Amino acid sequence: MTDLRSNLDAVNERIERAAARAGRNRETILLLAVSKVFPASAIREAYGLGLREFGENYVREFEGKHPELTALSDARFHFIGHLQSNKAKLAAELFHVIQTVDSDKVARRLDSFASRTLDVMLEVKLSPESAKSGVAPHDLPKLVDCVRQCPRLSLTGLMTMPPWSEDAELSRPYFRRLRELAESLRVPGLSMGMSHDLEAAIEEGATCIRVGTALFGRRRPALAAVE
Ligand SMILES: *Cc1c(COP(=O)(O)O)cnc(C)c1O
Repeated sequence: MTDLRSNLDAVNERIERAAARAGRNRETILLLAVSKVFPASAIREAYGLGLREFGENYVREFEGKHPELTALSDARFHFIGHLQSNKAKLAAELFHVIQTVDSDKVARRLDSFASRTLDVMLEVKLSPESAKSGVAPHDLPKLVDCVRQCPRLSLTGLMTMPPWSEDAELSRPYFRRLRELAESLRVPGLSMGMSHDLEAAIEEGATCIRVGTALFGRRRPALAAVE
């Protein structure tokens, strides 16, 4: 059993220490609680401890949990998994933020289905061996233009996931690169950093860190393949 309260205290302490080292205001860093694979009851418990923003990777899995979450009226749900364009309609209905837009096609579909302004981030693929999804840096300016022309989409940031390594320092060059891209394109937010490398991400300017394991404990891998 994991103790969410003590995990949250430990994560908050890590965030505060990293922010202090970087001379940053803690309030500029959003802790996104990644609740994929965990039941709605885990999200409700986290909400009870004050967390309000949650990350989910699977549209269908979240659709199943969603009816049990309607009482959490000010919670915001971010989609952080790979978005297939045939799930764009459902995703636009269920989520407040889509962090993983990586093509004009997905952007236009989200724009056409959104019934209100939808916050989006663009997932950037910074290495060949990282996640299969993401826009190449070379194609990013064109995608930024496309999203800025979509009336119902609000471009709030860039997102990336470096190749996984035990050594958080190996993530740092990717975080730095994402920040440089965001600065050159005048995109405000940076979603980067997970349980094992959130300090490096904060030092490199993350405005949203996506933390699962350090809060909810280890995921059962078999369940991760629901989609
Ligand atoms: C699962 C996931 C996370 C959380 O990873 P942890 O190592 O459990 O903190 C963050 N971002 C994305 C895109 C994920 O899929």
